[in-house]
Amino acid sequence: MFQDSPPSAPDDSPAGLYIHIPFCLKKCPYCDFYSITDPSLQPRFLDALISEMDLVEKNGWVYDTLYIGGGTPSVLEDAVLKNIIDLAGQCFDILSDAETTLEVNPGTVTLRQMKNYRQAGINRISIGIQSFNLENLGFLGRIHSAQDSENAVKWAQEAGFENIGLDLIYGIPGQTDKLWLKDLETAVDLRPQHLSCYMLSYEPGTPLHMDLRNRTFTPLPEQRICELYETAVSFLSDHHYVQYETSNFARKDAGVRDTESALTYASRHNMKYWNFVPYTGLGPSAHSFMGQKRRWNHPSVEKYIEELSAGRLPLAGEEVLNREQQWMETVYLGLRQTKGIAVDAMEKKFGINFNARYAAIIADLEEKSLIKSSKDRCALTSNGMLYLDSIAAMFI
Ligand code: SF4
Repeated sequence: MFQDSPPSAPDDSPAGLYIHIPFCLKKCPYCDFYSITDPSLQPRFLDALISEMDLVEKNGWVYDTLYIGGGTPSVLEDAVLKNIIDLAGQCFDILSDAETTLEVNPGTVTLRQMKNYRQAGINRISIGIQSFNLENLGFLGRIHSAQDSENAVKWAQEAGFENIGLDLIYGIPGQTDKLWLKDLETAVDLRPQHLSCYMLSYEPGTPLHMDLRNRTFTPLPEQRICELYETAVSFLSDHHYVQYETSNFARKDAGVRDTESALTYASRHNMKYWNFVPYTGLGPSAHSFMGQKRRWNHPSVEKYIEELSAGRLPLAGEEVLNREQQWMETVYLGLRQTKGIAVDAMEKKFGINFNARYAAIIADLEEKSLIKSSKDRCALTSNGMLYLDSIAAMFI
């Protein structure tokens, strides 16, 4: 199926820089991101992070995004965060107009902090709200109230942030359409520039997954979750948020005419993950991508510190994507974006015309209104996004 010639070089767009801060005040039972709650390792983690910045390959890359995520970066002192941003700027070639995002937990921020973040060079804030409903917050084990979340958004706005993203979760047991709409309405009323709506997932190894297996609660049926997704897509579209990825919506401001230019507020950093743009990841569990090679760090603060103290990069593994894996990822990542698969680029990279090769499958999916295809593009409809995994599997 695949030609022997090597695939074309990755996009020469600027790269992305990700820094993982592996500390939280408390672990949420649904979360499978790596973090610990013991703050005593923070000073040694910070020394190790500085060593990693020095040691990691720079590849001559220029970066136009810096994303500080976690974990809960906002548990660090403001001055420490500023120091990290300054050091990153000294070690990496980061463009002056880079999108610089900080993830914050509403239970850990104040107006003063928001102002300090702004002064430290952060220009995008991503706030993990998840829900404004008290019961949902309890189920998700969040440390904050709905009022904390509203305050966090207002303080970010007061501090001068003009690019604010909110994360919400749907599919929570007991969540009705009415309750979900209430969350969406509250979020939209706060006028964020970006909204991420994630389906609650039960990741193996998490306490919530264990509770599910022990039947301590009844999960929402799949059909109900699909309906909540459809509610989000239609409500957000009515309120001028453009869906650009399965879970992500960017606000389209008044006067902006076409969908492409509406993507001013799409997450520039996250789009690198979906478009095969190289990125460097620092910190425990962080991943890096160099065109065809992917590397990842140890998901352990102790091991991370140990390796860097010995002058070694804290690499846990790496893989070189073969052509088949590249094809699979290009299909999957293309289909999760509303712009879909670029047929020309696929042909250039793999020597295969996607539309021609899968004409029968595409025709069938079009008939069911799950896909829309043109000469240049093949994209899922918002209904088709519900079946992303199974549809992507048809092209692999
Ligand atoms: S605060 Fe965020 S990173 Fe920390 S455990 Fe909760 S969801 Fe995970």
